[in-house]
Amino acid sequence: MASELASILNTLGLTDDPRISLDRLEPGAGFVLCENPTTGEAMARVRLDDADAYERAASEAHAAFLRWRTVPAPVRGQVVRAIGDELRVHRDALGRLVSLEVGKSLPEGIGEVQETVDIADFAVGLSRQLYGLTMPSERAMHAMREQWLPLGAIGVITAFNFPNAVWGWNAMLAAVCGDSVLWKPSLLAPLTAIATNTICQRVASRMGHEGVFGLVIGEDQVVGERMIADKRFPLISATGSCRMGRHVGGVVAQRLGRCLLELGGNNALIVERDADLDLALKSVVFGAIGTAGQRCTTTRRLYLHESIADEFCERLVRAYASVKVGDPLAKGVLCGPLVSAAAVEGFESAVAAAKSQGGEVLAGGSRAEASELTPPGLGGHFVRPTIVRAPASGELPIAREETFAPILYVFTFKTLEEAIAKQNDADQGLSSAIFTESARSAERFLDPSGAGSDCGLAYVNLGTSGAEIGGAFGGEKDTGGGRESGSDSWKAYMRRQTCSVNFSGELRLAQGIELDL
Ligand code: NAD
Repeated sequence: MASELASILNTLGLTDDPRISLDRLEPGAGFVLCENPTTGEAMARVRLDDADAYERAASEAHAAFLRWRTVPAPVRGQVVRAIGDELRVHRDALGRLVSLEVGKSLPEGIGEVQETVDIADFAVGLSRQLYGLTMPSERAMHAMREQWLPLGAIGVITAFNFPNAVWGWNAMLAAVCGDSVLWKPSLLAPLTAIATNTICQRVASRMGHEGVFGLVIGEDQVVGERMIADKRFPLISATGSCRMGRHVGGVVAQRLGRCLLELGGNNALIVERDADLDLALKSVVFGAIGTAGQRCTTTRRLYLHESIADEFCERLVRAYASVKVGDPLAKGVLCGPLVSAAAVEGFESAVAAAKSQGGEVLAGGSRAEASELTPPGLGGHFVRPTIVRAPASGELPIAREETFAPILYVFTFKTLEEAIAKQNDADQGLSSAIFTESARSAERFLDPSGAGSDCGLAYVNLGTSGAEIGGAFGGEKDTGGGRESGSDSWKAYMRRQTCSVNFSGELRLAQGIELDL
């Protein structure tokens, strides 16, 4: 596996990067050890930035912003286009690196980089569409309009589970909006961050725009805390747990900065009595097991109409039995490892809690043995994809928590109103889905009065995970309210200015106020 990493770094032209070392793989001050979650072994060590390095990176990001904002937006779009093209060339190698570092299956690793390519394409078009409105003035011979201006250097904090795409969603939009970006990745995925940022920086520098894309890798206490308190970053875009978001949101609010928060989810999928069960089954399996349950949009709660619940559970258990767990780079493996030993402990304690609360384990429920993996004998952080059926009372308090692992909690319902109410009875509000062949049920789920799903994402006849970049992505309640990616999410990366021009030659006050001088 170490040679796998060496080969990827070689393909990406990163063998001489002074931050990465493939030998002396023991813990030490000033470094983070990168563990391969598939083998449980250290595969690299990465140098950490200290307070001085942070200061240099933050000053550079601010200086780069002052230059970059003067470049016309469509010209900025050409730089983003070139970055997208370069990422296309390196897509498969980068996707492999994502899979190696965080353990998601190879198609998902490659798919994640494709998502960054897609958002780059979107941003190129956007660079000619940063439209403001014009509005009629109530005063004669006055003009009124809005314009959108670059905001500043943007601090981008990313979670381990999308180590490339979350940066892409932010950085590609921020760049066409005229902002520079300073990226603080998770210490569970620094290699993907170095590779991605280096590819992007090379392109920007070659085109004369040094410093627009910065990277700082360090401890939360040293680097993260400095960044969130730093007024040079008018916007902090932070993706991660609700716990992190509460803290970051509080610190940024204290300095009256802006936050874009993309936090945890506890996503539910409803299967109505009239659903296409084949379609629902595949969607549940991918939604609950994909990325080993480590997606913000993972399906965690399943609500089955009581008339189909037993049959659906039986089919689900059979489908789970056919899922391959193992090396995410191996063909046909859907479920890779969890990211760390701590994540396995989190999985085990959630399963224990579910059992003690009366849940019945229908599938999985424990660590996966080395002998049952593909290929057998891997030493990483593997668990069995797990289904827990709630007791008849429907009470299963552990299902209110987001455990970042492939655990699916199953409940039954009698009426759609009940199912929607239960789905909405969660602290987070990210993704939601219903499977039904009835237009009435679908429209109730999407009720424009707001009485349907209370989530930021609501899907009919497709699973909770796997969003496209064209729509705004994000969630309500404890998910943080942020929106990234498509639609008009770009507005978060700009500041709005309302401009009025008086070409009358006379002072005309609004609201008809007269000034007698
Ligand atoms: P995490 O909260 O442990 O860490 C996320 C990031 O926050 C990391 O870069 C971490 O270093 C940083 N961070 C933590 N404390 C900080 C501080 N005091 N100052 C500055 N930065 C700080 O989350 P994780 O385990 O990496 O990721 C999993 C979580 O992320 C899950 O809850 C998942 O649902 C969520 N997530 C949400 C989305 C979304 O779009 N809503 C996308 C991906 C992941």
